[in-house]
Amino acid sequence: MAILLNGKELAIQRSEALREEISLFPTQPTLVIIQIGNVPESDIYIKRKIQSGEQLGAKVIHQKYDSDISQEVVMDDIRNYNEDQNIHGIIVQLPLPENLNKNSIIETINPKKDVDGLTSVNVKNLTCNNLGIIPATTKGVITLLKHYSVELVGAHIVVVGRSSLVGKPTALALINENATVTICHSQTKNLEEITKTGDIIITATGKQNLITAQHVQEGQVIVDVGIHAIEDDGKKITGDVDFKNVEPIVEMLSPVPGGVGPMTVVSLFENLVDAYRK
Ligand code: NDP
Repeated sequence: MAILLNGKELAIQRSEALREEISLFPTQPTLVIIQIGNVPESDIYIKRKIQSGEQLGAKVIHQKYDSDISQEVVMDDIRNYNEDQNIHGIIVQLPLPENLNKNSIIETINPKKDVDGLTSVNVKNLTCNNLGIIPATTKGVITLLKHYSVELVGAHIVVVGRSSLVGKPTALALINENATVTICHSQTKNLEEITKTGDIIITATGKQNLITAQHVQEGQVIVDVGIHAIEDDGKKITGDVDFKNVEPIVEMLSPVPGGVGPMTVVSLFENLVDAYRK
């Protein structure tokens, strides 16, 4: 039986510490969430962030636009938020409608307020191992592994998924932690042979049951970042790992739900508090 990497419990502990810290601030740390268009999953993620912000004592402003909004209007609003001393963090909920240029919109965010760590300044900081804002999911994964005393230095970590949002920043951050990292993606041949060579597997693909008993071996630590809605309302979710068949084999495994998801949310607010302090 694997030890479960209980992100839910750790997120509650870290939220309590964060709430105490925020209660001592003279003003409320404030996050703006920009949402453009109607993606049902985005509604669910934003709702969670708003609820968490309320519980922590942070202020969350939800700025919603219709999908036909002009890019310039959104960018002008972001510039205003950049100038506003009462706003400490700005995130753009992805994905965006295809008619908009995602990069131009994200690059408009002041890197000091980019609490998702997606602007090129923060990406470069991560690439060069300089101090900067690390994307929340990446930060959550590493915090979870360290909490369970999983050795990262010198470990061989196989990251499955190479998106700019999760796979690549996670791989970079783990290299900065002195791990040896292999990145796999949809064109990787013999995935199961590669994943078996890892001390740790981090999977972030959104493909249900991609990681099966054939991909793992005894002693491994598996972190499942994937989210796959198994009901239309998004209330029931599962991950990339075939939990039932993998769990008896490996040493540690993060469940979905209750693993990386809650860690991502608390890490976002940790980034907000860092931005507030600075
Ligand atoms: P993307 O769709 O942007 O990236 C998915 C990645 O998975 C791609 O690199 C893709 O490869 C790779 N992939 C797809 N199929 C396979 C396959 N058969 N074998 C190996 N690799 C494959 O998704 P994101 O990175 O944004 O998100 C990944 C998952 O993580 C999603 O389920 C998302 O919902 C979830 N997520 C969870 C968070 C959390 O807090 N728990 C936060 C953010 C995301 P290629 O590049 O070749 O197409």
